[in-house]
Amino acid sequence: MLYSKLVTIYGRVENTTKTLEKTAILADFLKNVAPKELEEITLLLQGLAFPEYDARDLGLGIQLAIKAISSAGGSSIDQVKQLWKKTGDLGETASQIMGNKKQATLFSRSLTTSKVLGNLHKLSELEGPGTVDRKISLLKELLASSNGEESKYLVRICLNDLRIGIGEGVMRDSIALAFDVDKVAVQKAYDTTTDFGEVAQLAKNGVNQLAAATITTGKPIKVMLYQKARNITHAFERVGRPGALEYKYDGFHIQIHKRASKIQVFTRRQEDVTKQFPDIISMVKKQVSATNFILDAEAIGSDPKTGKWLPFQHISQRIRRKYDVELLAKKIPVVVRVFDIMYLDGKDMLLVPFKDRRKAIEKIIKKSQQFAPAEQIVTSSDEDGSRFYKESLEKGNEGLIAKNLEAEYKPGSRVGYGVKIKPIMEPLDLVIVGAEWGTGKRGGWLSSFILACKKDDQFLEIGKMGTGIKEKEDMGTSFKELTKLLKPLIIADEGRVVRVKPKVVIEIAYEEIQKSPTYSSGFALRFPRLIRMRPDKNLKEIASLQQVKTLNLNQRHNN
Ligand code: ATP
Repeated sequence: MLYSKLVTIYGRVENTTKTLEKTAILADFLKNVAPKELEEITLLLQGLAFPEYDARDLGLGIQLAIKAISSAGGSSIDQVKQLWKKTGDLGETASQIMGNKKQATLFSRSLTTSKVLGNLHKLSELEGPGTVDRKISLLKELLASSNGEESKYLVRICLNDLRIGIGEGVMRDSIALAFDVDKVAVQKAYDTTTDFGEVAQLAKNGVNQLAAATITTGKPIKVMLYQKARNITHAFERVGRPGALEYKYDGFHIQIHKRASKIQVFTRRQEDVTKQFPDIISMVKKQVSATNFILDAEAIGSDPKTGKWLPFQHISQRIRRKYDVELLAKKIPVVVRVFDIMYLDGKDMLLVPFKDRRKAIEKIIKKSQQFAPAEQIVTSSDEDGSRFYKESLEKGNEGLIAKNLEAEYKPGSRVGYGVKIKPIMEPLDLVIVGAEWGTGKRGGWLSSFILACKKDDQFLEIGKMGTGIKEKEDMGTSFKELTKLLKPLIIADEGRVVRVKPKVVIEIAYEEIQKSPTYSSGFALRFPRLIRMRPDKNLKEIASLQQVKTLNLNQRHNN
């Protein structure tokens, strides 16, 4: 297919905010895509070069994209950067630069989607000396064959940020509408394959094929998530008595896949992190006695000397680390707790009741301190539940998860088959001392805010927040409103970052206070989000460093 044809669709979808319209445009388009192109077009519609579960990435950052735009468009790097500062979107920047270029090259009309995808795939394969230059020239080649509009989407795809509002829901509904199949069936097939390309292909072949989409080792499935319960009694109301209670660990979610001798580890976002965790691979080899399986588990960091479990932040560096992996594995060893099983030796376990999935886990795992089934009790008693909750918190966990013993595994959903119980941290009043200009949809607005607490008459930074703020004005505190409040308070302009006079007080919720060298207070809020503006509070009333220290000490585990 000509790339220009796809770009027309990108444009039409971007130009409407109405989900139903987006769906209709896409369905109409997908219906007429040739079967052999359907997978690749579906990928590109989502702005992807590989299916979600595929770990390969293009490895092309903003700086390389700037160089490619500069070189293809005949503008200096500074000019590209200046324009980017103005537009807040490197795709739009490319569009303006390439659009201004006089000669529309001859082959611009013949750029195909296969050529685009081919070059993107090549980007991910490059390694070793000369890689940077070759990456730039692969993008440059595509840009040189594109007009303004085409360049816009090329750059956005390269930066993994298509931004035309095709999320999971729109994609699902478009496939359902295009091939006249049920949305629920499309969603189910997607949750088990994590690949809309494959789902579109199956849907085109009819509802039976779609229903036959099965989980396969090597392709991570979407994880099941849990709702919140207020306390143990409420949790039992949700999952029934007796229920299974398990520690809610403060690590990160991993999905372990094994097919014969091939073992892979994926994160909750379907990234392949097998290389980063040789220690987990060797535990699985030694301690799980089955040939093919998919397990849900949590990896928790532990202190190499005491064996004590550590909060998530300690282990987070292991997820990204590409070098000295073995060394880091010794420094920050992990403990693994397996809490679910979705596939076992040829059998799809999704519809098997949880109590039997748990039995299967216990049967195939040879327990050790390092690798074991999740700590669990099965009980009907609030008292036992409360005791177990306390024990879990004392061990440094986040709380408990209560699970319905009869429930199936529902990929990708936040269903009531389990509920989590966690202590809630009290909110803090803080002042905004700086902010960052947004990009894309948030271009022209301040979109990330630097927060501070106080120590005497000093303001000490404690984190950055961009969550809880609305894009539309009528729905609560908006980016526009905050920008309007803060703009007159700007005292220093450091490019994308500005410093503002401390004046605007806001109330912030968060999950935890961590020690952190990044901020001048020595602490950082984990997952801060805006609750409300506090114009009624003055600077004397904001949280003090002492208060922050006390909260840090009193939370379920300190660090
Ligand atoms: P949170 O930020 O509280 O972890 P969440 O939105 O990330 O919430 P939840 O649905 O609340 O996700 O909880 C599911 C996550 O909890 C899983 O992805 C897993 O990583 C983690 N978890 C820890 N212990 C367990 C357990 N025993 N059973 C299931 N999930 C667990």
